[in-house]
Amino acid sequence: MRQKGVFIMAHEVFKKTPLISIVLPVFNEEAGIEETIDVLLHYVAARQERYELIFVDDGSRDNSVKIIREAMRRAPQIKLVEFSRNFGHQLAITAGVRYASGDAVVVMDADLQDPPSVIPAMIAKWQAGYAVVYGKRRHRDGESWFKKASAAAFYRILHSITNVNMPVDTGDFRLMDRQVVDVLDQMNEPDPFVRGMVSWIGFKQTGVLYDRKERYAGTSKYPLRKMLGLAMNGITSFSRLPLILGYWAAGVLGVSSILVLLGNLLRGTLTAETWVIITVALTGALILLALGAMGTYVGRMFTASRERPLYIVAKTEGFQQAQVHTHP
Ligand code: UDP
Ligand code: MG
Repeated sequence: MRQKGVFIMAHEVFKKTPLISIVLPVFNEEAGIEETIDVLLHYVAARQERYELIFVDDGSRDNSVKIIREAMRRAPQIKLVEFSRNFGHQLAITAGVRYASGDAVVVMDADLQDPPSVIPAMIAKWQAGYAVVYGKRRHRDGESWFKKASAAAFYRILHSITNVNMPVDTGDFRLMDRQVVDVLDQMNEPDPFVRGMVSWIGFKQTGVLYDRKERYAGTSKYPLRKMLGLAMNGITSFSRLPLILGYWAAGVLGVSSILVLLGNLLRGTLTAETWVIITVALTGALILLALGAMGTYVGRMFTASRERPLYIVAKTEGFQQAQVHTHP
């Protein structure tokens, strides 16, 4: 009896010790990956939770994988997912999160810009009941004014043109509860914008402020081309505004040309020239109107083609069995 009791207690303790997965996308990070691993292992050793560290190699052409493999020999918590080529940061995160088996999953850069010392604050909020705890940047050290200004502008524009409540100044550094991760895993979106998708999923979300550090070593793997691609994915995945800009242009052009026409008619100054200009402007307005209409329909098809779940049930009560499902 006593033994059984002890067994149950041990089992209970085990059950209560959460497993946290840390997902790190890696692309040509040989200069600093060893330090990242050391800092993380140090962090993990001092914590009570259990951890797995999932490195996703996004087609690195340097020694990153070799360094990770070496570390795996001394640290069983380290796991490695290797891509066949460079698929990009967002897909590396997507894959890493899918391979994670933690009760909560933390995504962070592999260059120590997102300090592990912020994770305990995230875990505390998670344990207080938040499903997503994102890192909100208070300062960004060592990044160019262009990167800081363009990022600040981008997050504010995106925030204002979408219905999804996306926090500003927030990257992918965040902790997600298993329930959120399970939904994210189902969202098979090409060109994912992960931080937007996580906001879209909902549940209780909150942020912790942190100072984004300078990259520990190496250079940014986000050239302007990749940054613009990410920004375009963010806007087109969460807003149809660009598609219906035609309506706005048509409205402005149409109304102003009609006003000019009326003004000229009233004053009796309508010349053949003005008439031609007005006709051209009105034709333009009609074409823009048609483009806006096309945009509306294409937008609907686009939304449908993403096959997002229609809604997400957080929990059910009063049924015979608790059931959580995302599809109607
Ligand atoms: N990364 C990746 N694939 C890419 C580009 C970047 O996996 O195609 C990784 C990179 O190794 C890093 C993280 O994504 O761990 C963020 O990239 P980076 O630090 O270069 O971006 P920045 O912090 O400069 O915006
Ligand atoms: Mg970085």
